[in-house]
Amino acid sequence: FKGIKAGLAKTKGVFGSVLDVLRGKGRVDQAFLDELEKRLYLADVGTQATRLIVDRVRQAFRDKEITGEVEVFVKAQLRELLTDATPGINYQPTGPTVVMIAGVNGSGKTTSIAKLANQLQSEGKKVLLAACDTFRAAAVEQLTVWAGRIGCEIVKQGQNADPSAVAHDACEKAKARGFDVLIVDTAGRLHTQTHLMKELEKIHRIVARQIPGAPHEVLLVLDATTGQNALTQAEQFSKSVKCTGIVLSKLDGTAKGGSVFAIKQKLGLPVKFVGLGEQIGDMEPFDPDAFVTALFE
Ligand code: GDP
Repeated sequence: FKGIKAGLAKTKGVFGSVLDVLRGKGRVDQAFLDELEKRLYLADVGTQATRLIVDRVRQAFRDKEITGEVEVFVKAQLRELLTDATPGINYQPTGPTVVMIAGVNGSGKTTSIAKLANQLQSEGKKVLLAACDTFRAAAVEQLTVWAGRIGCEIVKQGQNADPSAVAHDACEKAKARGFDVLIVDTAGRLHTQTHLMKELEKIHRIVARQIPGAPHEVLLVLDATTGQNALTQAEQFSKSVKCTGIVLSKLDGTAKGGSVFAIKQKLGLPVKFVGLGEQIGDMEPFDPDAFVTALFE
């Protein structure tokens, strides 16, 4: 297993340039703030998060709140920006916890579902998958292969089956057979964007009707290598289904890991898991402390 440190190898290079400007800095002046702003922006931290951090540093220095090194203060700000009130999965004390997974084709959705299911099973949870991406021929098949590999049960029907019917059956099975977690895969593409959003809404509705309070999480899988594009996608999805968090896949394949800050600041959505490779074990619950530490190592 690669872990966050190795997974951030490419991103670390970019943050090295941020660290260069921070190192040994004792006082804050305009030239420093300009340089910090430029480098954070180039590290894909995004306009809003970058401004927020730079403004905080300026203010804190003015208010004499920065007692130690500027470097330590900035790192603390970065950590704080990522810290979320509701980390991880919102588990239900009784009945199945339902996790709906959305994301465009190619984002790493199927792999992320398998990784998540595997992780939950290794924690002793009984996990059921629902193959509701019935639009794409290979999707059900691919998920079935993963289910077999990790020894996880799956509810499915044929291609072009009604995804709501699959979701309905899966909820019934999860309740009747005492599953702890039901992970619902959804379509990554349909004929039109409107069609896709309507389908997601419908699955959401069916799940909520079968299991009160469900879905307890709606996680959107975003491909970290697409940077700004991932943000646009997230905004689109959020319009029809209220997402509760992000699975940021392929972090190992990009220098754009700074987009974690942009996602949190711009979308108000926490990154809950990060994908760090193609293997089943290559996913971690997102830990802001470990992430920021790894960025600057
Ligand atoms: P889907 O179409 O969204 O279901 O995407 P898949 O799960 O099939 O993944 C698409 C490709 O991305 C596959 O080749 C995966 O092995 C790869 N992939 C998924 N997650 C990661 C990750 O975290 N890191 C890397 N390097 N590759 C990944």
